[in-house]
Amino acid sequence: MYDVAIIGSGPAGLTAAIYTSRSELKTVVFEGMSPGGQLMITTEVENFPAFPEGIQGPELMKRMKEQAAKFKAEIKSGYITEVGFSKSPFTISTGSDEVTAKTVIIATGSTARWLGIDSESKLRGKGVSACATCDGFFFKDKEIAVIGGGDSAIEEASFLTRFASKVTIIHRRDELRASETMQKKAFDNEKIEFAWNSVIEEILDVSKDKVTGIILKNVKTGETKTLPVEGVFLAIGYDPATDIFKGKIELDEKNYIVTKENTQTSVPGVFAAGDVRDHLYRQGITAAGDGCMAAIDAYRWLGGIK
Ligand code: NAP
Repeated sequence: MYDVAIIGSGPAGLTAAIYTSRSELKTVVFEGMSPGGQLMITTEVENFPAFPEGIQGPELMKRMKEQAAKFKAEIKSGYITEVGFSKSPFTISTGSDEVTAKTVIIATGSTARWLGIDSESKLRGKGVSACATCDGFFFKDKEIAVIGGGDSAIEEASFLTRFASKVTIIHRRDELRASETMQKKAFDNEKIEFAWNSVIEEILDVSKDKVTGIILKNVKTGETKTLPVEGVFLAIGYDPATDIFKGKIELDEKNYIVTKENTQTSVPGVFAAGDVRDHLYRQGITAAGDGCMAAIDAYRWLGGIK
């Protein structure tokens, strides 16, 4: 029997593990399908405090894991497929491995949606990104494209104009989904242009191992054209990893976990931290902060029932 079972091993899950294990709570972490989470596919991280020289995403996650292990958090590989949340102690299971725990912290994160074309996956991290805050800095005085028509696309495009000489928003319709205020922000920005009714056919140039442009197709006319850009930022939405919690805890209309008091979910004793409950900030440091909060919430809850 564990005091705390943590599902997920990104910054939220591992920070929660550092706090709970250091508070002498018997802690297990299930690493999940992508151990280390989204930072494992990030190269240079320049905005995580305490690393003035920057740090590679995988190295940052390796250190967080070492720190959690140092305080005796048990870190297991394995992807949770089944949870029993009717009452504490809860059960969580990988199919072959089942544990019981008095509290659970869900830190399964979310994944950025991608277009799913071959050139996109080949050039990911080489000019193709889904995080302007992480990678915008690398595109000083360059022309870039942002894909999407929602609030994220406008926010990312506006942020990117701090660095880029020009940002073209590529949207598949002729009307934005983003709020009026955000739309105005984009229309008023001299560095932002739009390619309406357009979808990406291909990102160039896989043979050069870097982004040199995109082939756009106008969905109304069928015409194609090449837009020279050096960066492509996807902003077509995120999907929280909450499939296994459907029907077990309250989710919102976009499947993010609903938390009411601090990190408490609709099931007392089950907490949620990081991108699985946050669709606004999505940063390593905010996820880590959230993990810390969930650990303290779990500690206090256990104090109440012990
Ligand atoms: P979203 O609102 O779901 O918008 C996704 C956009 O991507 C839509 O314009 C959609 O086109 C487009 N899209 C989806 N799949 C595509 C594909 N395969 N190919 C091309 N385009 C595709 O997602 P979001 O912008 O990430 O926003 C998520 C939530 O966070 C929203 O509730 C938003 O209001 C909120 N948010 C708020 C702020 C803020 O207030 N500062 C900032 C960011 C996000 P269609 O329009 O044609 O469907």
